[in-house]
Amino acid sequence: MEALLQRLSEALGPQAVLRGEAVRERPVSRLVQTGCEAGALVRPASTEELALVMRLCHEAGQPVVPRAGMTGLVGGTMVGPGEIALSLERMNRIEEIDPVSQTMTVQAGTPLQVIQEAADAHGLLFPLDLGARGSATIGGNIATNAGGNKVLRYGMTREMVLGLEAVLPDGQVVSSMFKVLKNNTGLDLKQLFIGTEGTLGVVTRAILRLQPRPRTRQTVLAAFPSFEAVATVLERMRAGSGGSLSSYEIMWRDYYLLITAPGRRPAPLSQEHPFYALIECEGSDEAADDARFQAVIEPCLDEGLILDAVVAQSEAERTDLWRIRDDVHYLKTLDPLFVYDVSLPLPAMARYVTELRQALERRWGRATLIAYGHLGDGNLHIAVSCGDKSAKAEVEALVYEPLKAFRGSVSAEHGIGLDKKAYLGVTRTEAEIALMRAVKRAIDPTNILNPGKIC
Ligand SMILES: Cc1cc2nc3c(=O)[nH]c(=O)nc-3n(C[C@H](O)[C@H](O)[C@H](O)COP(=O)(O)OP(=O)(O)OC[C@H]3O[C@@H](n4cnc5c(N)ncnc54)[C@H](O)[C@@H]3O)c2cc1C
Repeated sequence: MEALLQRLSEALGPQAVLRGEAVRERPVSRLVQTGCEAGALVRPASTEELALVMRLCHEAGQPVVPRAGMTGLVGGTMVGPGEIALSLERMNRIEEIDPVSQTMTVQAGTPLQVIQEAADAHGLLFPLDLGARGSATIGGNIATNAGGNKVLRYGMTREMVLGLEAVLPDGQVVSSMFKVLKNNTGLDLKQLFIGTEGTLGVVTRAILRLQPRPRTRQTVLAAFPSFEAVATVLERMRAGSGGSLSSYEIMWRDYYLLITAPGRRPAPLSQEHPFYALIECEGSDEAADDARFQAVIEPCLDEGLILDAVVAQSEAERTDLWRIRDDVHYLKTLDPLFVYDVSLPLPAMARYVTELRQALERRWGRATLIAYGHLGDGNLHIAVSCGDKSAKAEVEALVYEPLKAFRGSVSAEHGIGLDKKAYLGVTRTEAEIALMRAVKRAIDPTNILNPGKIC
């Protein structure tokens, strides 16, 4: 590795190749803020420099692990002493905002929040949004096909990328930098790099699809008597909101109790209800959107589908309601804690959670199960605390195995990385996994790019 690093340092300049302490002070993972074990951290400043890095690493058989905001939740950035960590932190510029095409051209190291704010300043919206917006970068978002709070309305990151540039493991640059939505010219090559967690190429630049900035917004926190009522109101909101429904976030009572416990977030609704949901619509019809929203919510209240509700009257109140959904860090007060991100068809969700709770209680007597998630996307987040640190594998099996029968997924939006690799077979068939491996071999025959991740 020494000769290679020397060559890279000469070609890219010493500021591009960090060694020793400068690497150790970098995070190992989202939770461990120092102690990165990589042999070096390489920071190219352009696509051309990155292409050179990959070409030389390919020739030397040197493994490389891309890393960005380090907010990933599945160990996709784990790096060992024999590997080089690759960061695009010096490639962090917005290159262009095109209001006519409604696109933004960005370098992969640009933080998500910077992109959101730049779109907003031009009267536009980049609709990807998640709690880690300040640290996560667009390159990481693309590599993980991030989901977040508005998938229901705008889709996942995949739907927001029109064009992409990536560097292959051997240093070739593949440029699919198109601004057009329609482009049926064979394989949609950019998809090779979206959601594949840095195993097939390093994303360097992207053309993002922007949307008109919403002019109206209605946000309500509602309490429900049953899961069926939560699902019925979702159906009515979809049908009656004129396409403006953007978030429908379900919280089982245990989640609401945890977040609104004394000293944490104030509880805007009583804590006695079995289900809660944070519902948000974003539209552009200033004359009609409020009335349309009320026309769905009020009959639901009259019929007892919604037991109680609080509507945000200001941006500050909206932020407070969203913090009930976003302040997931209170989960850390449960120790030991295991967290999961799964998806399954909506009609199966309540049964899945009930049966999982029963299975946990059968095994450990008193186990805590906290469930919440993006209901409209079929996405559940599950947190389990059973008082036994060594029970990780056993809990994982209880969480993941039933998903097979429901045709669900062991990863809704966080990816596979290292942490979920053993369970990929719950969701994907042998033939699918074999095809994924064949694609990896074809693009990265010497297995130098993020080796060992996904499958
Ligand atoms: C508080 C919190 C809330 C979150 N909420 C959500 C949520 O709602 N929805 C959701 O989907 N995720 C969520 N996440 C997970 C995380 O934010 C996303 O996975 C994010 O997209 C990762 O971006 P990053 O820049 O931090 O990437 P990193 O964590 O640094 O890397 C993630 C993966 O991408 C690869 N990678 C990074 N950059 C590149 C590149 N340029 N080219 C190729 N591969 C690359 C890495 O090798 C790794 O496999 C949340 C995380 C936190 C901490």
